[in-house]
Amino acid sequence: MQYDYLIVGAGLFGATVAHEMKKKGKKILVIDKRNHIAGNVYTKKIEGINVHQYGAHIFHTNNKEVWNYINQFAEFNRFTNSPVANYKGELYSLPFNMYTFNKMWGCVTPEEAKNKIEEQKKEAGITAPKNLEEQAISLVGTDIYEKLIKGYTEKQWGRPCTELPSFIIKRLPVRLTFDNNYFNALYQGIPVGGYTKMVENMLSGIEVKLGANYLENKESFNEMADKVIYTGPIDAYFEFKLGTLEYRSVRFENELLNIPNFQGNAAVNYTDSETPWTRIIEHKWFEFGKDEEGNDLPKTVISKEYSSEWKPGDEPYYPVNDEKNSQLYEKYKVMAEKEEKVLFGGRLGEYKYYDMDAVIASALRISRGLY
Ligand code: UDP
Repeated sequence: MQYDYLIVGAGLFGATVAHEMKKKGKKILVIDKRNHIAGNVYTKKIEGINVHQYGAHIFHTNNKEVWNYINQFAEFNRFTNSPVANYKGELYSLPFNMYTFNKMWGCVTPEEAKNKIEEQKKEAGITAPKNLEEQAISLVGTDIYEKLIKGYTEKQWGRPCTELPSFIIKRLPVRLTFDNNYFNALYQGIPVGGYTKMVENMLSGIEVKLGANYLENKESFNEMADKVIYTGPIDAYFEFKLGTLEYRSVRFENELLNIPNFQGNAAVNYTDSETPWTRIIEHKWFEFGKDEEGNDLPKTVISKEYSSEWKPGDEPYYPVNDEKNSQLYEKYKVMAEKEEKVLFGGRLGEYKYYDMDAVIASALRISRGLY
C-alpha cells in the first residue's frame, strides 16, 4: 500500500482527520473532486474581499477544545453575526430578541414581550409542538412566524413548515434581552485571510490531489491505502442502491458592485415568500469593521442565495433530516458499517445538519480511535 489513509474530500472533516493522522506519523493522501481544497468553506479573494463561494460560514462554538484547535490554523476576527430580516421592506433584528419584539409589537419591557408571545401561542392552541410551524409559534407567536419564519423557511426547504422537523427552528435563539448576536456561542469569528488559507494550514505537509473523482474509480483508489475516510454523500457511495436521500442545494448569483456599501450588513434575510432569493450576503462585512479603518474599499461583492431541491449534478448542501430521509439514512448507515476499510464522516457522509464546530469535534473524536 502506498498510503495508510486515503481521505476523500478536502473539507473540514477530511482536513481535520488528515492533520491528526499526519501527527501520528501516517502517510496520507487527500483527494477532492473539485479543483480546490476547503469544501464548502472555500473562500476566494475578489477585489481584496474574501468571498464565501459556497455560502456564508461564520465559525461559532461553545467547545473550547475545538476553538483552541482551530485557532492553531488561523487567527479569528471579532465578527459577530447579526443578520437583518427584510419583510417587504420592513427591517427586523435577528435572532428574535427585544429589538425584534419592539419593532413588531411596540413592546418596551421583556414582560410585555413575554405576554404577547404567550397570548399568541394560546390563541393558536398549541401545547405540544409536532412540527416546525407549531414549534415556531410556540416560541415566538404567530406574527413573527408569519413575517419572519414561514416565507423564509418554505423557500429554504421547499416544503411546508408543517412537514418540517422542529429542531431546525430551535437553531435560532429567542431572547428577552436587547442582543442581536445570532449565536449562543462563547467563541465566534471569521478566519483572517479566509477559510481557504486556514484549511491550507491544516493540510500543510500533506499530499493533496485535486480534480480526483473517487466514486468514478473507487476500486483503484481503494487499492492505494489501508483505510479510506469518505466524506462525500453516503447514498452516492452506494450508487443510490436503496434510493436517493434528499438534499437542498443552493445557487449563488454573485455581483461585483461599484459602490462601497450595498446593505450595511453581512447578511440580510428576505423573509417574505415572493422574493425569489432567501438572503443576500455582502462579503466585505465579514471582515471589515463597520465605520472603522479599512471600510473605504470602493467596491463590494454581494451574493444572492437561491435554494432548490437537489438533483443529480447539483451540489448537495443541506441534508433534509425529516422522518422519511432519516429512516433511509439509517439503512445506508447499516451498509456503511459493513464496509471494512471505509469510514464515513462529515455533513454528507453522516447525512447530518452539522455546523463547522461539530464537524471538527466529530473528526477529532474519530481520529482519536484511529491508528
Ligand atoms: N429561519 C427563519 N428566518 C430567518 C432565519 C432563519 O425562519 O430569517 C429559520 C429557517 O427555517 C432556517 C432555520 O431557521 O432553515 C435555521 O437557520 P440558520 O440561520 O441556522 O440556517 P443556515 O445558516 O444553516 O442556513
